[in-house]
Amino acid sequence: MTSPDIENVVIVGSGPAGYTAALYTSRANLNPLVIEGFMWGGLLQQTTDVENYPGFPDGIEGPPLMQRFRDQAERFGTRFITDQATKIDLADEPGGVHSVWVDDEEHKTRTVILAMGAEHKKLAVPGEDELGGRGVSYCATCDAAFFKEKPTMIVGGGDSAMEEAIFLSKFASKVVIVHRREEFRASRIMLDRARSIDNIEWLTPYVPEEFVAGDGGSLDHARLRHASSDEQLDVPVAGVFIAIGHEPQSQLVTGLVDVDDEGYVITEGRSTRTRRPGVFAAGDLVDHTYRQAVTAAGSGTQAALDAEWYLRDTPEVATPPGMPDGDLAEAQWAEPA
Ligand code: NAP
Repeated sequence: MTSPDIENVVIVGSGPAGYTAALYTSRANLNPLVIEGFMWGGLLQQTTDVENYPGFPDGIEGPPLMQRFRDQAERFGTRFITDQATKIDLADEPGGVHSVWVDDEEHKTRTVILAMGAEHKKLAVPGEDELGGRGVSYCATCDAAFFKEKPTMIVGGGDSAMEEAIFLSKFASKVVIVHRREEFRASRIMLDRARSIDNIEWLTPYVPEEFVAGDGGSLDHARLRHASSDEQLDVPVAGVFIAIGHEPQSQLVTGLVDVDDEGYVITEGRSTRTRRPGVFAAGDLVDHTYRQAVTAAGSGTQAALDAEWYLRDTPEVATPPGMPDGDLAEAQWAEPA
């Protein structure tokens, strides 16, 4: 399908929210363009078993699940640019034309759906950046195989930390879970699974203070501090996996739409509307609370419908090519392109 001078919908981001928004807008004949980044598929690309996505009673791994999301959007004519969006200009007036840039390539569009998701949060301690790729990682699924029969550490007390620990325990000689409190945020089922594994050990309440390299330049040990007594403890480890939550990737739109203190994009009420007409936000970029693949997919659906309704109901928007007259439901049942 050729690219129009002005797109109907440009979707920035390619996790469950972005691809679901693409599925719905493509089925509505809006010919969406997804700027999906190099590492398309979002954080689920770094996950193993996904047991809580409805419709997969035996579970599915993250990467094939995201491939299915993408294939389904593509089937209805979604176009993809496998590159990063580098700049966004947003109009202020209803019906205004926005621009999304990929380096010096400008994509003009009537609506934008922001779905850039979230990234791994950092501890911000000495050694963390310096030892990235030499012992410090944020993704056990990606890197666990480098630590066969070696001592490792997980930092964090949520479901991600448990999931990472369970996966890593199949490779490493042992996994020490370090958490800053005695209580865990992780769900009971994940916590019980981790507790039942023999080579998982627990160190609480401790916080990492520094990651220290050995003579060869790779991680040698983690220096921890007891959260109440301040006592220091050096733990020899070959690999440490940091799983302390996520940060919204809103840098591209800082100052353009409203964001809260933590950088999550603020939307109006229960809608996905930002304060800019024709600009919508969905998924982990807006969601402090639930941050599940299925809730992100749901909010991608909402953003797609909000964008359709905006295109249909804003008199200042010239009738976009492909936008059918009449009932929205008709558009939803359109045959694939
Ligand atoms: P999370 O639930 O926010 O947990 C983050 C953990 O890191 C908390 O235990 C927190 O400690 C700790 N932490 C945060 N900042 C820290 C710091 N600076 N230093 C030390 N520790 C720090 O994040 P998540 O585990 O990534 O989970 C996010 C969401 O995804 C949750 O809703 C979760 O249920 C879901 N999830 C589900 C699954 C699954 O069901 N299979 C798997 C992964 C994630 P405090 O508790 O003290 O704040």
